[in-house]
Amino acid sequence: MSASRILGYAAMAAGQPLEPFEYEPPELGEHDVRISVTHCGVCHSDIHAVDDYYGITDYPFVPGHEIVGHVSAAGRAVSGPKPGDRVGVGWQGRSCGQCEWCQRGEEQLCLDIVPSGTWVPYGGFSSSVVVDGGFAYPLPETMPSEVAAVLMCAGVAVYGPLSKHLTESVQTVAVIGVGGLGHLAIRFAHALGYEVVAVSSQPEKEEQALAFGADRFIDSNDRESLRRVALSFDLALCTAGGGVDWEAMLATLRKRGKLVLVGFPDVAFNSTNLVARELTITGSFLGDRATMREMLAFAQDRGITPEIELMPMSQVNEAIQRLRENEARYRIVLVNETARRPPSRVVS
Ligand SMILES: [Zn+2]
Ligand SMILES: [Zn+2]
Repeated sequence: MSASRILGYAAMAAGQPLEPFEYEPPELGEHDVRISVTHCGVCHSDIHAVDDYYGITDYPFVPGHEIVGHVSAAGRAVSGPKPGDRVGVGWQGRSCGQCEWCQRGEEQLCLDIVPSGTWVPYGGFSSSVVVDGGFAYPLPETMPSEVAAVLMCAGVAVYGPLSKHLTESVQTVAVIGVGGLGHLAIRFAHALGYEVVAVSSQPEKEEQALAFGADRFIDSNDRESLRRVALSFDLALCTAGGGVDWEAMLATLRKRGKLVLVGFPDVAFNSTNLVARELTITGSFLGDRATMREMLAFAQDRGITPEIELMPMSQVNEAIQRLRENEARYRIVLVNETARRPPSRVVS
C-alpha cells in the first residue's frame, strides 16, 4: 500500500464478508476534517447496511459510524477541530445546511440524509475518514476512546428520545431488548430518573439488567408476566431488532402511552389498542448536534459507560458474526492497530 492510500474493510456485495479494501483518500473540502481512526464501534445498522436492508447501499461499502480518532487535516473554513485534536463522529457526517430541518438545527432530519452518512464515501472501518468539521465532536478529556465511540451512535440514539420524553413527574419506561442499545438505554434512563423495566426474551440477562439500573426485569416469553403489567408504562423504548410481540407490548402501555422505535425491526400489529387507547408509535433517529453534546456531557458527568469488548479491526468479520449471533456483550469496538494511540483498557 502506498503511504497516501487508505486501508479499509469493505463489503463488495450485499451480505458478503468484508475484505481489505484500498482506496484513494477522499478529497478534503474546505469545511471538512480528515480523521485518523483509532476506534470504531460495530452497530447493527452497519450490518443492515452491508445486507442492503435500507435499500441505499452502494458497493464497495465500508461500514462504521461510531468513530473516534485524531484530526490529521482540516479544511481552511473549519472553525472547530484542529489537527491533533481527538474527536468523535457518529452516523451523520454532514448535512445540506439549507433545508428547513437543517435551518432549525435538526440536521438528523436533513432532506438530503442519505449522502449525509459518515459511510459516504467510506465509513469508519478504515484507517481514515473525511467528514464536515461541524460533525466532529470534541470529547471530554478523560473519557476513554472506546467509550466515546459507542456513545456516538448507541448513546445518542437512546439518550435522544429518553431526554425528549422526560417530564416533571417520574415516568416508567420499558426498555425492550437488553443489547448494545438496550443496556445503555437502561443506564441513561435510570440516571435521568425514570423507573426502568427491562424487557427481554433472554431471561439469562436479568441479573445484568438489574445491575445496569433496571428496577424490574420481565421475560418477554412469559405472557403472564406481561399481562400483569398491562396499562403500566408511560413509554416503551424498543431497542430490539426483532422478535417483539407488538400487541403484547402495546397492551403494557398506559392510555396515550408512547412506543418509540430506535432500532429497525419489522413491525405488524392489530390496531385495536393503538386506536382505543390513543397510543403513539414513533421512531427516533439519533439526535441533533446539541443533543449529541448534551449526551456526552451527561454521560461524563454521571459516569455512564457502555460494556465493551475490544477487538482488532482486522477481526471485523468475527465481530460482525458475534453481532449476527447476538453474542456481543454488549458492544464491540474495533481498535485500529495501525493507528498510534495511548494504551487502552476494557471497560466493564
Ligand atoms: Zn449505529
Ligand atoms: Zn438539510
